[in-house]
Amino acid sequence: MEYSDFMNPGNVDHSMNSLEIILYQSWPGRMPDDLWDVMRRYILSRDHYTCKNCQATDTRLDVHHIVPIGVGGSNHQNNLATLCFECHRKIHPHMRHQS
Ligand SMILES: [Zn+2]
Ligand SMILES: [Zn+2]
Repeated sequence: MEYSDFMNPGNVDHSMNSLEIILYQSWPGRMPDDLWDVMRRYILSRDHYTCKNCQATDTRLDVHHIVPIGVGGSNHQNNLATLCFECHRKIHPHMRHQS
């Protein structure tokens, strides 16, 4: 009887489901907040909660679209990077939601 572990929902890590990420990153255009939240947490974890620009860790961290969605950028993980609030603000002088 070895199936008990498989049946145990406690063994499923819903916060880091790579299949979800593969599906979500092909989302066209701006993601709904709940999908974006999963994607964002995945990128923060991938980048070890460290700003890609200044290596800050002990501050507010955002996930930035390297090529903005508005000019055809994708939600693919290769187009997403962790930035601290200060670095992110410099890229977007008039920062709007989720870009
Ligand atoms: Zn930074
Ligand atoms: Zn940004």
